[in-house]
Amino acid sequence: MSVHVFPDLPDSELCSATYPALGPDFGSLCNEADKHDGNHIALVVVAPGYRRYVVWTPAGEVLPDEETSLAHAQGQTPPIEGDQVT
Ligand SMILES: [Zn+2]
Repeated sequence: MSVHVFPDLPDSELCSATYPALGPDFGSLCNEADKHDGNHIALVVVAPGYRRYVVWTPAGEVLPDEETSLAHAQGQTPPIEGDQVT
């Protein structure tokens, strides 16, 4: 599972696209920089310590969610199975 890194910018310099699919995440703002390339992506906090990415294309087509946990989001490189660092 890859970890998406969002740009560290003020809201005014972020993409203004909003998640187009109806549901609890409808209207979530894209977290990428303004005029970015590729798909829009928003980080949605589902519950404390649990986050989910929602992704959609510039044409408004919603892609399957990328699910992740806060634990994964904090580590740049998740430990390899069988070689965990304690
Ligand atoms: Zn965007």
